[in-house]
Amino acid sequence: MSNYFHYRGDRLYAEQVPLADIAAQFDTPCYVYSRAALTDSLRQFTDALQGREHLICYAVKANSNLAILNVFARLGAGFDIVSGGELQRVLAAGGDARKVVFSGVGKSVAEMLLALDAGILCFNVESAAELERLNEVAGSMGKIAPVSLRVNPDVDAKTHPYISTGLKQNKFGVAYDEAIALYRKARDLPHLRLTGIDCHIGSQLTETSPFIAATEKILALVDTLAGEGIRLEHIDLGGGLGIRYHDETPPAIADYVAALLGALRGRSEKLILEPGRVLAGNAGVLLTRVEYLKHGEEKNFAIVDAAMNDLMRPALYDAFHEILPVCRQPSPQPSPACGGGSERERQSLLYEIVGPICETGDFIGHARNLAIAPQALLAVLSAGAYGMSMSSNYNTRPRAAEVVVDGNTVHLARERETVQQLYAGEKLI
Ligand SMILES: *Cc1c(COP(=O)(O)O)cnc(C)c1O
Repeated sequence: MSNYFHYRGDRLYAEQVPLADIAAQFDTPCYVYSRAALTDSLRQFTDALQGREHLICYAVKANSNLAILNVFARLGAGFDIVSGGELQRVLAAGGDARKVVFSGVGKSVAEMLLALDAGILCFNVESAAELERLNEVAGSMGKIAPVSLRVNPDVDAKTHPYISTGLKQNKFGVAYDEAIALYRKARDLPHLRLTGIDCHIGSQLTETSPFIAATEKILALVDTLAGEGIRLEHIDLGGGLGIRYHDETPPAIADYVAALLGALRGRSEKLILEPGRVLAGNAGVLLTRVEYLKHGEEKNFAIVDAAMNDLMRPALYDAFHEILPVCRQPSPQPSPACGGGSERERQSLLYEIVGPICETGDFIGHARNLAIAPQALLAVLSAGAYGMSMSSNYNTRPRAAEVVVDGNTVHLARERETVQQLYAGEKLI
């Protein structure tokens, strides 16, 4: 657990605010983020990169709430986007288009027009066909598009297969052996300007060695290109640094950056990084309330009001999220934080923590030892990244509210959706 979510006595707090107060004011399920935690993680990068020309481009898809983007923008961060929609979010949140890199295998003409019009820092191009399309679109606007090629370094990130992106068989980037030929081609296209090279090998990496292996392969390409007179201004090593959800031991941000800087010794190119999860993941929790306890023959279930539509990671990747009671010692008197129930119900038991959705895959956690009563509040930890941003409206469930805690202040960062909003665009035939 991070320092920003902690117990005082038997109650769980976000910074200076009891989570029970947030549930009382904004209801559940509710995402709660700590501004100090967001700031702290970004500062760890900028501190470690002191004295080196760099840009941290926060990966917007990890958590794209405008309030979060604004916190990072105000600290000088850039942004890594994967859609035109994310670009519009960045601009709406006060982000600087000149600090935006645009990744993704399927950029549409409309997205290219939007990004060229905004004047982004760089397109991270992922195929020959995309190079040609970008050249045409830029030409039609009388513009020159800044380009980096996303190279697939063919290294094993040793992470979950769904979030491993740097192997030959993955759909991402241009093949390592074809990169030089593609750079030559790009050099000859009139409406492109080659500015950099990038890679992104996967997410939730808990070791430094795959990053270093990828960096070394990228640097070999940079040298070959320089030999041909193609001099790049920046090297973008992507994101992917993991966080601790359970018992993982990822390197600290400072150690990860130091390792990269070691591999980059003697190089003068600007370094770009695209961290997402490590900036936001442990800066947020999902607050949920126990609706029912159900004691089955083989298993005990705690049915909570958050579900796979709110937090998809357990259902999608069988991911582990720690789950803590907001009230550690439920007393016989019912209360809004601790719930209420018989002594038997308040016993510590192994629970399946499940949502109300009609899918057996709808679980938040398996076999958790908890002493909880019906109506008790639970905090699902490490939910700041790939939580709300992957949420859906499955089962016509309005999406959760989001709040940002800043010291003893709570800001509503997104109102809970209403059911009317969900079908506002639908028509009877
Ligand atoms: C998702 C993504 C990231 C961020 O990955 P994290 O694991 O959240 O750090 C960075 N760059 C690209 C291209 C991505 O697709």
